[in-house]
Amino acid sequence: MSNEDQKACPNCNDACYRDAVDVGVGTIYGPWGCTCGWSEDARCDQITGSGGWQENGSYVDTAGNLYPKDNVVTQMMRAAEAHETQGASELDAVAILAKED
Ligand SMILES: [Zn+2]
Repeated sequence: MSNEDQKACPNCNDACYRDAVDVGVGTIYGPWGCTCGWSEDARCDQITGSGGWQENGSYVDTAGNLYPKDNVVTQMMRAAEAHETQGASELDAVAILAKED
């Protein structure tokens, strides 16, 4: 795509997203990423690369954001995954969160 602010995902053709930080003299962009797990940066790609859950419990999303192990977002994702894989109820997920505090 010629438009710098839009990109179609090469994996699923959905719209990608990326982070942009204005540093005064210009804008720094993070890698393009998609909710399907594809990332422009192999270190963040969750399909073929090393993105997603890391050995130390942190999480790297497809746009290059690192969520440390004890980050509240990471804890919520872990609880949501427990909900999906163990069939726990939403109340259980909240209990898991509370226990980890
Ligand atoms: Zn995609």
